[in-house]
Amino acid sequence: MPGEFDIIERYFRRSGVANDVRVGIGDDAAIIAPGGDIAVAVDTLVAGVHFPDGFSPHSTGHRALAVNLSDLAAMGARPRWATLALCLPAVDVDWLEGFSSGFHELAERYEVSLIGGDTTRGQLAVTVTILGEAAGTSLLRSGAAPGDRIVVTGTLGDAAAGLRRIVAATAGAVPQDVPDADHDFLVNRFSYPVPRVEFGLAMAAVATAAIDVSDGLLADLGHVIRQSGCGAQIDLEALPLSAALLGSCDREQAEQLALTGGDDYELCLAVPAAALGRAHEIAAQTGTALTEIGEFVAGSGITGRRGADRQALDASGFQHF
Ligand code: ADP
Ligand code: MG
Repeated sequence: MPGEFDIIERYFRRSGVANDVRVGIGDDAAIIAPGGDIAVAVDTLVAGVHFPDGFSPHSTGHRALAVNLSDLAAMGARPRWATLALCLPAVDVDWLEGFSSGFHELAERYEVSLIGGDTTRGQLAVTVTILGEAAGTSLLRSGAAPGDRIVVTGTLGDAAAGLRRIVAATAGAVPQDVPDADHDFLVNRFSYPVPRVEFGLAMAAVATAAIDVSDGLLADLGHVIRQSGCGAQIDLEALPLSAALLGSCDREQAEQLALTGGDDYELCLAVPAAALGRAHEIAAQTGTALTEIGEFVAGSGITGRRGADRQALDASGFQHF
């Protein structure tokens, strides 16, 4: 049974760290040599809260890093260094193998160096701190202005539908209501969120505000309007819904999941009308689907429109407490 230091050596230390990492894993602290402004974000995933008990360790490793990469993408920053605090109920080498592979595969893809961490015993929880380079312009939540268009990447609601299916499967009740490919697509959207890193970076000079959709569109767009001091109007018929989601439930439920379901890790941005063309070019260059769903307006709150109908939408969404 490997001990704490064997675990760190075997699963977390990797050779060939970037040369701006002066001291990596193995000392009392890491030392990095950044060239400019640094963006820092931290996120904790707790078993039974942010992912179901018994959830795939490979996905857990991917998600732990992906949710942090997504935060930096929403700032228009380039992720570079990460620390990992791992709280494990017991040493399970299969779990560690899967978890560390999922983590390192994503870290390598975005050239993020794991420079330190902490390994303790307790209820399964994973905390990743990410540091990245923030260029001259960062995408804040406070920059949206009335008239700016609201755009979102990818599709919304899939991850929430996928999580429901994962939970049902864990309880031994896989719903047989959709083709396997659609089931797998929805489950993957929860298990393997794609952080929109390249898109966020390229949009730093184009968008006026951004947030990543982690708690649901209404909740996250709600943060942007409050911090920007304006309101928003969204076109419910324009919400980007995947074919798999629409095949798994009726349109009303799909919209509900898109508005309030969390875990999508797509970006929601404010783009001045004159910059929309540039945003679509960047989307095409980075292979990112981009949909215009409405605009920021004077006032407060979020209004949904469907044809001539208008309805106030509750921006509270999912809250932990
Ligand atoms: P300390 O007691 O000084 O906090 P630790 O014994 O906790 O040091 O950790 C030893 C080294 O291993 C440190 O450099 C720490 O950053 C690193 N480390 C510990 N756990 C992890 C982990 N899960 N992933 C990456 N590095 C880790
Ligand atoms: Mg320590």
